[in-house]
Amino acid sequence: MSNRPEQLTYSEWAEAVRDGRLLGQECPDCGHVAGAPKGACAHCGSRDIETVELPSEGEIYSVTTIAVPPGQFEERGYQVALVQLGDARVMGRLDDQDVEIGDSVTLSGVIDVDDGHPAPVFSA
Ligand SMILES: [Zn+2]
Repeated sequence: MSNRPEQLTYSEWAEAVRDGRLLGQECPDCGHVAGAPKGACAHCGSRDIETVELPSEGEIYSVTTIAVPPGQFEERGYQVALVQLGDARVMGRLDDQDVEIGDSVTLSGVIDVDDGHPAPVFSA
Protein backbone atom coordinates (compact mmCIF):
# COMPACT_ATOMS: atom_id res chain seq x y z
CA MET A 1 0.00 0.00 0.00
CA SER A 2 1.42 3.38 -0.93
CA ASN A 3 0.55 6.82 0.33
CA ARG A 4 -1.46 9.00 -1.97
CA PRO A 5 0.85 11.83 -3.07
CA GLU A 6 -1.67 14.51 -2.16
CA GLN A 7 -2.10 13.20 1.37
CA LEU A 8 -0.82 15.50 4.07
CA THR A 9 2.24 14.20 5.90
CA TYR A 10 3.38 15.10 9.38
CA SER A 11 6.46 16.89 8.04
CA GLU A 12 4.38 19.03 5.65
CA TRP A 13 2.04 19.87 8.50
CA ALA A 14 4.99 20.72 10.80
CA GLU A 15 6.65 22.88 8.13
CA ALA A 16 3.42 24.81 7.60
CA VAL A 17 3.07 25.40 11.36
CA ARG A 18 6.59 26.85 11.45
CA ASP A 19 5.50 29.03 8.54
CA GLY A 20 2.48 30.34 10.46
CA ARG A 21 -0.11 28.30 8.58
CA LEU A 22 -2.29 25.51 9.82
CA LEU A 23 -3.16 22.65 7.54
CA GLY A 24 -5.93 20.17 8.05
CA GLN A 25 -7.65 17.47 6.12
CA GLU A 26 -11.17 17.51 4.83
CA CYS A 27 -13.11 14.40 3.98
CA PRO A 28 -15.19 14.82 0.82
CA ASP A 29 -17.28 11.79 1.77
CA CYS A 30 -18.64 12.97 5.12
CA GLY A 31 -17.37 16.55 5.48
CA HIS A 32 -15.30 15.88 8.61
CA VAL A 33 -12.29 18.19 8.94
CA ALA A 34 -9.27 17.06 10.93
CA GLY A 35 -6.78 19.54 12.36
CA ALA A 36 -3.76 17.26 12.08
CA PRO A 37 -2.44 14.80 9.50
CA LYS A 38 -4.15 11.44 9.56
CA GLY A 39 -4.04 8.54 7.18
CA ALA A 40 -7.81 8.33 7.00
CA CYS A 41 -10.92 10.22 8.01
CA ALA A 42 -11.44 9.81 11.78
CA HIS A 43 -15.18 9.95 11.24
CA CYS A 44 -15.92 7.58 8.36
CA GLY A 45 -12.56 5.95 7.62
CA SER A 46 -12.34 7.28 4.06
CA ARG A 47 -8.79 7.55 2.69
CA ASP A 48 -9.90 10.03 0.07
CA ILE A 49 -9.07 13.06 2.21
CA GLU A 50 -7.91 16.44 0.96
CA THR A 51 -5.47 18.91 2.47
CA VAL A 52 -7.08 22.21 3.37
CA GLU A 53 -5.76 25.38 4.93
CA LEU A 54 -7.42 26.15 8.25
CA PRO A 55 -8.37 29.65 9.39
CA SER A 56 -5.93 31.25 11.84
CA GLU A 57 -8.70 32.60 14.05
CA GLY A 58 -11.00 30.52 16.16
CA GLU A 59 -12.55 29.86 19.52
CA ILE A 60 -11.38 27.95 22.57
CA TYR A 61 -13.18 24.62 22.66
CA SER A 62 -11.47 23.29 25.77
CA VAL A 63 -8.49 24.29 27.85
CA THR A 64 -6.25 22.46 30.31
CA THR A 65 -3.55 23.90 32.53
CA ILE A 66 -0.42 21.77 32.72
CA ALA A 67 1.44 22.24 35.98
CA VAL A 68 5.21 22.20 35.77
CA PRO A 69 7.32 21.05 38.73
CA PRO A 70 9.43 23.82 40.36
CA GLY A 71 12.90 24.19 38.90
CA GLN A 72 11.96 23.79 35.27
CA PHE A 73 12.17 26.70 32.90
CA GLU A 74 8.43 27.13 32.45
CA GLU A 75 7.72 27.66 36.13
CA ARG A 76 4.21 28.98 35.77
CA GLY A 77 2.91 25.95 34.03
CA TYR A 78 1.24 26.36 30.67
CA GLN A 79 -2.09 25.98 29.02
CA VAL A 80 -2.98 23.57 26.29
CA ALA A 81 -6.15 24.27 24.38
CA LEU A 82 -8.26 22.64 21.78
CA VAL A 83 -9.17 25.47 19.41
CA GLN A 84 -12.10 25.33 17.04
CA LEU A 85 -10.88 26.68 13.68
CA GLY A 86 -13.67 26.56 11.16
CA ASP A 87 -14.75 22.92 11.12
CA ALA A 88 -11.55 21.56 12.66
CA ARG A 89 -10.23 21.39 16.19
CA VAL A 90 -6.54 21.94 16.67
CA MET A 91 -4.44 21.33 19.76
CA GLY A 92 -2.11 24.16 20.68
CA ARG A 93 -0.48 26.18 23.43
CA LEU A 94 -1.90 29.41 24.77
CA ASP A 95 0.36 32.33 25.52
CA ASP A 96 -2.27 33.97 27.68
CA GLN A 97 -3.04 32.52 31.11
CA ASP A 98 -6.55 33.91 31.39
CA VAL A 99 -8.53 32.53 28.49
CA GLU A 100 -11.73 30.60 28.89
CA ILE A 101 -13.83 28.29 26.79
CA GLY A 102 -15.53 30.29 24.04
CA ASP A 103 -12.89 33.05 23.90
CA SER A 104 -11.66 34.11 20.48
CA VAL A 105 -8.00 33.41 19.78
CA THR A 106 -5.63 33.92 16.89
CA LEU A 107 -2.67 31.86 15.78
CA SER A 108 0.30 33.89 17.01
CA GLY A 109 3.35 31.70 16.75
CA VAL A 110 4.89 28.32 17.23
CA ILE A 111 6.72 26.60 20.07
CA ASP A 112 8.87 23.51 20.03
CA VAL A 113 7.67 20.74 22.29
CA ASP A 114 8.72 17.13 22.80
CA ASP A 115 12.14 17.16 21.13
CA GLY A 116 11.56 19.60 18.33
CA HIS A 117 7.98 19.02 17.32
CA PRO A 118 6.23 22.30 16.58
CA ALA A 119 2.98 23.18 18.33
CA PRO A 120 0.88 26.16 17.27
CA VAL A 121 0.57 28.97 19.83
CA PHE A 122 -2.65 30.94 20.13
CA SER A 123 -3.27 34.22 21.89
CA ALA A 124 -6.44 36.04 22.83
ZN1 LIG B 1 -15.18 11.05 6.38
